Amino acid sequence: MGGLLRSGDQLQCPHGGHVRDLKFSTRVRIEGQPLVLGPFQSPIVGCPAPDPCRSVSWVTVSPRLRIDGQPVVSSTDYSLAEPTGSPVTAASFSTRVGVH
Ligand SMILES: [Zn+2]
Repeated sequence: MGGLLRSGDQLQCPHGGHVRDLKFSTRVRIEGQPLVLGPFQSPIVGCPAPDPCRSVSWVTVSPRLRIDGQPVVSSTDYSLAEPTGSPVTAASFSTRVGVH
């Protein structure tokens, strides 16, 4: 399993657009930051592509770690930007906490 995404981590499409309005856990934090919960569809803003990415949809989310019944998003989960089909990746994520 990869690192877990925190609220301060940036999710980006390959063109540099940013994912907004992520869902967070208010109960579990890493380094003081809430964890990102999935799956969800969130808007992408600032994509400079001629046919810009508008939203992100999660294709896979690990079912192994859940908070309040919702899966926690990790760096190995796979997401796509709509409507371009480009992969959305995290610019940074915590590698310091794994699943115990
Ligand atoms: Zn884009």
